Amino acid sequence: MIKYDVVVVGAGNAALSSALAAKDNGAKNILVLEKASQKERGGNSRYTNGAYRFAYNGFSDLKKIIPSLKNSNSIDYGKYTVSDFLKDMKKVTDGKTDKVLSKTLTSKSFETIHWLSKKGLKFKPIEGRQSFKVNGVMKYWGGLTLEVDGQGEKLVDSLLKITKKNGIKIQYDSAATDLIYEDNQIKGVEVLYKNKPQKIYAQSVVLACGGFESSSEMRTRYLGPGWEMAKVRGTKHNTGDGLTMALKVGASPYGNWSGCHAVFHDMNGPEFSDLKISNKYRKISYPWGIVLNANGERFVDEGEDFRNYTYAKFGREVIKQPNQIGWQIFDQKVRHMLYPEYDVKSATMVKAKTIEELVKKLSGVNSAKALQTIKEYNESVRDDIKYDPTIKDRRCTEGLKVNKTNWANKIDQAPFYAYGVTCGITFTFGGLRVNNKCQVLNKVMKPIKGLYAAGEMIGGIFYFNYPGGSGLTSGAVFGKIAGQSAARV
Ligand SMILES: Cc1cc2nc3c(=O)[nH]c(=O)nc-3n(C[C@H](O)[C@H](O)[C@H](O)COP(=O)(O)OP(=O)(O)OC[C@H]3O[C@@H](n4cnc5c(N)ncnc54)[C@H](O)[C@@H]3O)c2cc1C
Repeated sequence: MIKYDVVVVGAGNAALSSALAAKDNGAKNILVLEKASQKERGGNSRYTNGAYRFAYNGFSDLKKIIPSLKNSNSIDYGKYTVSDFLKDMKKVTDGKTDKVLSKTLTSKSFETIHWLSKKGLKFKPIEGRQSFKVNGVMKYWGGLTLEVDGQGEKLVDSLLKITKKNGIKIQYDSAATDLIYEDNQIKGVEVLYKNKPQKIYAQSVVLACGGFESSSEMRTRYLGPGWEMAKVRGTKHNTGDGLTMALKVGASPYGNWSGCHAVFHDMNGPEFSDLKISNKYRKISYPWGIVLNANGERFVDEGEDFRNYTYAKFGREVIKQPNQIGWQIFDQKVRHMLYPEYDVKSATMVKAKTIEELVKKLSGVNSAKALQTIKEYNESVRDDIKYDPTIKDRRCTEGLKVNKTNWANKIDQAPFYAYGVTCGITFTFGGLRVNNKCQVLNKVMKPIKGLYAAGEMIGGIFYFNYPGGSGLTSGAVFGKIAGQSAARV
């Protein structure tokens, strides 16, 4: 019987960060167990744009992460302090984020991304999506400045290569099904390896096997009725197995179990995405237009804030609408500002020369009401205020039931475009309660000996919403801590 020092369950960003940190901290015999086949490896981490939100104090910090980065008068990378990051965490979670966890996340974000870069992960500035040209200078905004060169695909491949170089073993096709829990401590995991049961023993087990976004049963149970209808944007393998196993041995649940990250997503997308379509089915350029539901009414303030601060919560709004659908409407003026995914041939899109013609093409929508809503919206736009997409320009509507706070432009230039959307779930927020060593706590708030958690599995960090790019950072920060603690038993 082999007994490992550390067994890590899952092989996404959080798990691989844990395995590497365990190695750094003296664990010799480390096994990573992954439910997916090698072909389907990488979890949600592989689906990402590889964008990490982290605190930095200007160009010199970024240069530590990308030594070849050149300073230039035509680029302003700005800065994003720990306190800016913390402020954003508090803002988007309505102040609910756990104080200790969010302090750890934000204050350790830079050193953790720096650690990953020293391990060999290659980063680059996020051109286009996170910057705007202002007076000839490319200005980065919002604190989300770097992504992994080659995005999620390269992120996972690089981490796997680095893991392998460090002598860490990965076993694919291995779904952890239960924890081995004896004498009040975790002794290993039970696994279905290629569909055959196996027992694997370990000194410490790190659970980093994602949330429950891909289980329609758990979604409906915890997020509520209607959620079984959501489309899954990421891996089909995150079915809450780690959470179920941990709760079974008495782990304390924590955080926003009825909350998740969910976005507008093509209404005709499949049940689970695959790597080719996932981000292409996302539809998040709504700040430049309006969104109607099946009743032909607006139901969100599309210009409430920069899309980084609203896109993760609007999927939840569309699930509440009749038939869980919406249509995003744009005119020719703003069409060029939409993300490339709006150009995807398979997108559910209709186009028309007049608004009257457009609303008739919106399947499942009350067209008379839709026409009235667009007219009323157009009449309420404060076009005396200058439109400026680089700032929150306060160009709003007035007098509507749901006003648009920024970037309100009349929809009046043909041709007109509409994109059919529904809810695409990204990941869930509820998880396990951990202490500052990422030890999983039991019902009396004491560590369950030998059990650690990281990544999407930790509860209490995100509530209602999340600042774009903090999922990967959270996985890396808490993954590193969990690996370190698991090795130092
Ligand atoms: C389309 C998309 C785009 C995104 N873009 C970004 C972005 O740019 N920046 C950002 O910060 N976040 C982004 N996110 C969120 C981000 O993916 C997650 O926050 C992060 O990847 C979670 O990492 P993780 O390691 O916890 O989980 P995962 O990467 O999902 O890894 C969990 C792993 O556990 C495995 N597993 C599940 N059950 C078992 C089991 N029983 N036994 C063994 N293994 C199991 C899974 O197969 C998977 O490989 C995006 C998500 C999606 C879906």
